[in-house]
Formats: sequence, C-alpha cells, structure tokens
Amino acid sequence: MRKCCLGNAWPKDGILGGGDALEGIGRCEVCGAVGRIRCGRCRVTFYCDVDHQQADWGSIHEQICPLLVPIRTPLPFLPSEEERKRGAEQLEERKKQLTSLAQSRSQELVLDGKAAEAIPAALHALRFSTELYGPDSVQLVPAYLVLALASTGIGHLQEASKYLSQAEWIVLKTPDCSIAVQSKLQRGLGLLCVAKGNFEQALYHLANDIYLASSAFGLKSTEISGGYFHMANIFLHQDKMDIANSLYAEVTSIWHAFLLKSVQAQEQILKSQPEMSLLSQEREGSEGRMTRAQKAEAFQVLSAVLDIREQTLKQQPEETARVLHTLAMLHYLNMDFPRAHKVGLKALDLLKQLPQQESLETIDHLLKLINSSTK
Ligand SMILES: [Zn+2]
Ligand SMILES: [Zn+2]
Repeated sequence: MRKCCLGNAWPKDGILGGGDALEGIGRCEVCGAVGRIRCGRCRVTFYCDVDHQQADWGSIHEQICPLLVPIRTPLPFLPSEEERKRGAEQLEERKKQLTSLAQSRSQELVLDGKAAEAIPAALHALRFSTELYGPDSVQLVPAYLVLALASTGIGHLQEASKYLSQAEWIVLKTPDCSIAVQSKLQRGLGLLCVAKGNFEQALYHLANDIYLASSAFGLKSTEISGGYFHMANIFLHQDKMDIANSLYAEVTSIWHAFLLKSVQAQEQILKSQPEMSLLSQEREGSEGRMTRAQKAEAFQVLSAVLDIREQTLKQQPEETARVLHTLAMLHYLNMDFPRAHKVGLKALDLLKQLPQQESLETIDHLLKLINSSTK
C-alpha cells in the first residue's frame, strides 16, 4: 500500500497488545484482517497495520472519524418504545449520510486520478449501503462501480472484474434499475476492456453507455461526454485521427455549452445580489451549481483533451482555443481566478491569430468577469 502525503497526521493509538488484549476488538477497516491498531481519535476504528490506517485516513477517515462514534457505539438502553424507534431512525439517517459522503468522496478521488486513495472510501460506501439496504440492493451498484474503476486504475483487473460482475448481477436482477446506473455499468465494463486491450469490446460497451445516457439525459448532456471521451481515446490509440478528432470536438462542445450557461447563470446571480460572492454560494447542490463530481470529471476530461490538442491533434487551433475557453470557464466557476485568467488569455491570444474570431467577444467578456471577481 502506497504511503499518502499526510505524513504523521493521522491519530495513532499505538499497537494493541497480543493475546487477550486482541479479544473483542474490531477488524481492519481496509482489509478485514485482525485489527491491531486503533484510531486514537474516534477509538472505534481498527487497522491491521499503519499502512492501512494511513490509507484510510487520506481517503475518507479524516472526514468521517467523529461521525463513526455514534454509529459504532452501542445504543444506550432506552426505556420507551418511541425512544428506541427514534434512536434507530437517527442511526439509519447517520448511516445514509456517511454512505453518500463516502460515495461522493470516492468518486471524486477516482476522477482526480487518485485510484488507490479512492478504494478505502468506496469500501466504506459499500459497507454502509450493504448494512442499510442488504447485499442485493441496486443501491450498492454505485459503490461497486467506483471500486471497479479504482481497481482498473491501479491495474488490479481481476478485482475490477469481480466488482463489475457483482454490479452486473444486481442490475440484471433489478427490472426497474435506472438507465443512469445501467449506463455507468456499461462505462465501467468498457474501461475494463480498454485496460485489457480489448478495444472492440470496449467500443461496444462505450457505445451502449452513450446510447443509454443520451436516452436518459439528452443528446447534449454532460453525462454522455465521458463515453465520447473514452471512445475518442481508443480511436486515437488506433491512429484513427479523424474520428478521434470529431469525438474530442463533441466532448468539448458539450462542456463548452454547459459551462457557458453556468457562467451566465452565475453572472445573473451576481447582478441581482451583488453582495453575494462566488464563495458564499459555494454550496453543493444549490440550484445551477455543478456538483464536485461533475467538476472533477470536467477537469479530467478537458485537461486531457487540451494535452492531446496541443501535442497530437495540432491542425485545428480553433478547437484548441475552444478547449482553453472551456477550461477558463471551469477555473472561474471553481474560483481559481489567477488560473482562469491565464488560460482565458491563452485562448484569446490563440484566437487572435485565426481568421474567424467569433468567440473573441465571449472570451473577452469572461476575462472582464474574472477581473471583477478578483477585486
Ligand atoms: Zn488491513
Ligand atoms: Zn477515527
């Protein structure tokens, strides 16, 4: 297990003694082996060794450590039926919160390219959703899919395959399984095939992913951009430049349109409520705002497309400028104004060298918006 960058920040409780001292203690949070170390902060979480404690800390435990205490401490004796019922409801609510926290954290880590770090968080999500919904519930599928993606990311293809089979089995047994979940399953299967070098099969699954996602969310939705992006990567790998080029252009166009709308919505809010800063609205899920997973996906996809445009597909500078413009909007919405400004200027400079300059005004306007936000 790789060391994380947190140094010695995690709270140690030392090695628990052998023999009797091990009796009654929990299992390692990460691998399920006998827990010999306990988290010194919550004191309800155990690990087989320091590496697993460190991995869990960096992945999710730092965020949920105190939240685990009420969940893992036995409920006090409550005399009345009503109190017991309320206690049980509260416990279930807490588990639901933890599940969604662990799920979104693991998703973000995978999209940030931190596959190994994502695994402990995804295992938490799987454990809590199993406790809440049972082992066959469709609610477990998102956790299985993140585990499969993360395992694929670190080259553990057998494990990825196992997780995907679990997800596939549940989806097959769930007649009313949502199309969104089915499309994500197809993407997971596609990416595993890519990792195995089976590109034809990968294209089949990715095409299914796009078909399902477009029927659920629409042809220009950001949900289908990932499918296009991974297909484009395969065609690039196969030297089929024309089709790769047009798929990357489609990916850019989807995010460009989406972010343009988000920036405009943002501008409207700032106009009508000038006292509101971008920061004060930075709340997950508030209307018109991107979720963190959406941002992570946009960054992953657009940065990769920019690299490819700058290094391999150089013949269309207007497309490169479009990616830069899209990334500048993303940095702006992410409140990274210096970077938004730098990338926006790069887009502007590139466009000025081209005969068609219809986007100049839009980028110019974005730069003004960025400048006014930094004041
Ligand atoms: Zn362990
Ligand atoms: Zn803890």
